[in-house]
Amino acid sequence: MPLRALLYRRPPDTPAIEICFDQTIYQVQLRRHAQARRYTLRIHAARREAVLTMPLRGSLRDAKAFAEKHGGWIAARLGRLPKATPFAAGEVIPLRGEPHRIVHRRRTRGTVWTEIEGDERLLCVAGELPHVARRVGDFLRREARRDLEAASRKYCAELGVTARRVTVRDQASRWGSCSTGGMLSFSWRLILAPPYVLDYLAAHEVAHLVEMNHSPRFWRLVERICPDVQRAKAWLDAHGTDLHRYGMIFQSAA
Ligand SMILES: [Zn+2]
Repeated sequence: MPLRALLYRRPPDTPAIEICFDQTIYQVQLRRHAQARRYTLRIHAARREAVLTMPLRGSLRDAKAFAEKHGGWIAARLGRLPKATPFAAGEVIPLRGEPHRIVHRRRTRGTVWTEIEGDERLLCVAGELPHVARRVGDFLRREARRDLEAASRKYCAELGVTARRVTVRDQASRWGSCSTGGMLSFSWRLILAPPYVLDYLAAHEVAHLVEMNHSPRFWRLVERICPDVQRAKAWLDAHGTDLHRYGMIFQSAA
């Protein structure tokens, strides 16, 4: 392979462009791709953005013209996504599958805690109002780590294996992963889902410590330690994408 071709194989991503449709500005991420023969558009639902794939040598001007021509499509597809729900006072977010209303409490002790008021569940946040979003985010990550560590420990004990580490992060592309070195990694957003969904993901990744594949043997192992596999998978198919709208501020430059 000529050096030139090697150099062009993995070009850095070209920055986003902006287009205007119906008096609203939309950001379009550009991805140059060696195999791309033409310009194509898709919507990344979890990141709520339009992505334009273009040939390596395509021009920015052509990319912009293409995105502008399909501005109506971009606007319609983004508009159809469920509304973003920021971590702000008054908003309702799920915690372990149960809706909780975020309430700001003006007091200095404590940070974030849950309360039940009548038949409503509250997620109470202390401190200054501008810090509510960060405190809710930190709280959810902490709770996610705790539940995922406990579930992983339980399934590890059942299978007689050990995980080297359990980490929680914000990954848009998958709910969990298992490295060959025995590191388990999960999306913190699983704490928003019903507990049987989080349990299933923990069982799934722990089972990879035994079977690093998705063979029938792997699935028999998961089903042996986790009774809710089909129910959890169905839930994720129906509601998984929706979990990505929490904690997001909808950016519209209209
Ligand atoms: Zn897997």
